[in-house]
Amino acid sequence: MPSPLVRLHDARLGDVRLVLKRDDLIHPDLPGNKWRKLKHNIPAAQAMGTLLTFGGAYSNHIRATATAGRLYGFRTIGVIRGEEHLPLNPVLTYAVEQGMTLTYLDRETYRRKTSPEVVADLRNRFGEFFLLPEGGSNAEAVRGCSEVPAEIDFDFDVIACACGTGGTLAGLSAGLKGQRALGFSVLKGGFLTAEVARLQQAALGTVRRNWTVNDEFHFGGYARRTTALDGFIADFRDRHGLALDWVYVAKMLFGLYALTARGAFAAGTTVVAVVTGSGEWDSRPAAHNSQG
Ligand SMILES: *Cc1c(COP(=O)(O)O)cnc(C)c1O
Repeated sequence: MPSPLVRLHDARLGDVRLVLKRDDLIHPDLPGNKWRKLKHNIPAAQAMGTLLTFGGAYSNHIRATATAGRLYGFRTIGVIRGEEHLPLNPVLTYAVEQGMTLTYLDRETYRRKTSPEVVADLRNRFGEFFLLPEGGSNAEAVRGCSEVPAEIDFDFDVIACACGTGGTLAGLSAGLKGQRALGFSVLKGGFLTAEVARLQQAALGTVRRNWTVNDEFHFGGYARRTTALDGFIADFRDRHGLALDWVYVAKMLFGLYALTARGAFAAGTTVVAVVTGSGEWDSRPAAHNSQG
């Protein structure tokens, strides 16, 4: 730390300077925003001895939390959406190898996972635990992500990230001094703006006005991809030698290139794009859309 800053040389960007903040290099098993979001939650997890959290069967957050439990010496319980499928997929196999206990909630119960009844039932089964919300996004996560802008030792105008729960965007925005934060939603639907505001209110007691959410580049929704996105990823690997995480990072960069081509950034604008995760983790089966 701090993670490297790498300027991208790419004629397609014209007069826009694009710099990657390589948070994917922080740790092979605890990379990117997942480390940033867990960091300040670790003391509470250690004090309680057990951390319980929620996620889908291919969740990067589940995988990272299992790593943190092993490295920092606390028990982890992963509450997984849906039914158990055996054999376990690579993410859940890894989590179990790290010592995580897995349990499953059917989709209807999962939607109510933070209700007092569901949490009380989990406490009956597993004892006391520190509860970390889905995706690891809470006030401490916002604080961890707010530390990124101070690691950038040159003038920039925009910091960009991909958004799932919005915790990373809420934090990046909180760490800015005059610049703007731009989040690219990988989920359909406009709920993310309210979610980022809620997280900032919880973490900072106020909502900053220096961020926006773009939801044009979700490619059909979370865990969806298109042939256009696949082409972008292959081309990016050829040009820059970097395998992009397709669920999040590739969609953000595709969006940044598209906005640049459209003239959305003035000449001379410097954009820092946070590489929040690693393409090395890709194991999710591709769900291609017919069009695009
Ligand atoms: C989890 C994740 C995100 C989404 O972060 P949020 O804070 O939930 O918005 C983005 N990129 C990668 C690589 C991730 O693993």
